[in-house]
Amino acid sequence: MKRIAVLTSGGDAPGMNAAIRAVVRSALAQGWETFGVRCGYAGLIGGHFEGLDARAVGGIVQRGGTILGSARCPEFQTEDGRHEALRQLHQQAIDALVVIGGNGSQTGAQALFQMGFPVVGIASTIDNDLVGSDITIGVDTALNIALEAIDRLKITASSHHRAFLVEVMGRNCGYLALMAGIAGGAEVVVIPEIETTPEQVAEELRAAYERGKAHAIAVVAEGTRYDAEALVAYFREHHARIGFDLRATTLGHVQRGGAPTAYDRVLATRLGAGAIAALARGEAGVLVGMEQGRVVPTPFAAIVGRQKPIDPELFTLARILNQ
Ligand code: ADP
Repeated sequence: MKRIAVLTSGGDAPGMNAAIRAVVRSALAQGWETFGVRCGYAGLIGGHFEGLDARAVGGIVQRGGTILGSARCPEFQTEDGRHEALRQLHQQAIDALVVIGGNGSQTGAQALFQMGFPVVGIASTIDNDLVGSDITIGVDTALNIALEAIDRLKITASSHHRAFLVEVMGRNCGYLALMAGIAGGAEVVVIPEIETTPEQVAEELRAAYERGKAHAIAVVAEGTRYDAEALVAYFREHHARIGFDLRATTLGHVQRGGAPTAYDRVLATRLGAGAIAALARGEAGVLVGMEQGRVVPTPFAAIVGRQKPIDPELFTLARILNQ
């Protein structure tokens, strides 16, 4: 009988629970035993394992967050920390580990795999910055939450002839901001991948004002050189040239908190099952992601240290549509 451990690591993402459920129940279908690790790599080092059966993962598919807890664990970035994690895995007689998480977590997974332990990753982050998966668990939910906020801000912005700077998450990746900008009909999108100066943002807002718009929305990714706070500070001195009265809203962690959308639940379920299928085929050292509608394993070596680029055509599209 195989003994599989599963953990969630790094930033939590809506849909992680659906992935845990799929891992556990797919493993049980293989006749394997499953164990949850509390709070990511910290729980691995601390030896915090608990048996998970089919009932333990009941009633969680619709819940955001992660029932296992997540953490950022600097100790795992040291060789001593990883050796202790390995010792704990051997002590619990675990045969393979499934890591549900983003870019940093999969870098950690690769480090453990390089020490000779079978690890499979599942692409889960609202940032959508992972190579090896067109879309990652949590993105769709976070996007829909951002969109709902933008729709609401538009209503109040129109009433007061205001421009809103809306800062969304995404770390160093502008995907969430770009998609929220397109779906939310933003006048301006500011992302880390394409440098935009405050002066350019001011010009765009001014142009929208002169075209007779009742409001303007600028979606700003958190990882840009000039985030919403920096732009507000700049515009405070250049108010007259924008036309609109200006406000800023940072959506922050609200974007992580929602119940996963249908898309995220299905994606997480397919990737969770895909991780167990990979282990059943004897594969390890791979990230399981969704590419062109198919569940695909990609070697960690091909994804670690890289960031998925955004599609510049989508940025152009956002600009064409902001008339
Ligand atoms: P995310 O997985 O959401 O990108 P982080 O970047 O915070 O989140 O990474 C989560 C955890 O993964 C870190 O706290 C650390 O324990 C582990 N990790 C990140 N980078 C490395 C690395 N280079 N080597 C080993 N472990 C790492």
